[in-house]
Amino acid sequence: MRQKIVAGNWTLNKNVAETKSLIADLKAQTNTSGARVIITPSFVNLTTAVEAVAGSNIEVAAQNMSQHDSGAYTGETSADMLKSAGVNITLLGHSERRAYYGETDALLAEKVDKALAENIEVIFCFGEELEERKSGKHFDVVASQISNALFHLGADAFKNIILAYEPVWAIGTGETASADQAQEMHAFIRKTLADKYSADLADSVSILYGGSCKPTNAQEIFSKTDVDGGLIGGAALKAEDFFGIINANK
Ligand code: PEP
Repeated sequence: MRQKIVAGNWTLNKNVAETKSLIADLKAQTNTSGARVIITPSFVNLTTAVEAVAGSNIEVAAQNMSQHDSGAYTGETSADMLKSAGVNITLLGHSERRAYYGETDALLAEKVDKALAENIEVIFCFGEELEERKSGKHFDVVASQISNALFHLGADAFKNIILAYEPVWAIGTGETASADQAQEMHAFIRKTLADKYSADLADSVSILYGGSCKPTNAQEIFSKTDVDGGLIGGAALKAEDFFGIINANK
């Protein structure tokens, strides 16, 4: 079911004490929007975070997950490890994973399959680079990222998938897509889903926008018909800013 969601991508930030402190600050804020609130601390702090969010509606997600169950894969974290730590949601395909760690659509398809098989909800991230937008290829790029990683799935799988459109040129740059650019792409994503599956399915999937979202621009972006919320990087690291964005998701 389509939901309002605001997810904070903490990236490589916050040690144990800082994780506890930010969560305490988050718990002191009031969610007046009713949106789902998700945070993604680093792996080492997931257990701390799960304990710290107890008694609140804040959900804890991982930033990545292995496609493997177990074995000699140094540095990796499995679905079972996440679940045993009380984490049932993961980001997959963030542009930093694609750019710095060579994650391909094919690998992401495997990770998505593993997550869904283990009942882990996926926030699947994708988006075009600046050159791709400048040369008018952004729709093709997004369509192929989605189809390559997700279109082998049956329609039911989308009950456990949240999409996050994050134009790479807007992530951490201070340059946000305009609300109209976000709406145009989100409508295109829904049409791509409708063409492959059905209009009902397309209308049931939550699609988040990510890229330099701030309390000052969130309301305009979230007011667009096909934008269900945001994936927030820098502004998720301060409780007031993050809740400013959450409360803009009316
Ligand atoms: C992100 O890290 O996914 C992100 C959207 O970052 P920022 O909000 O800082 O652009």
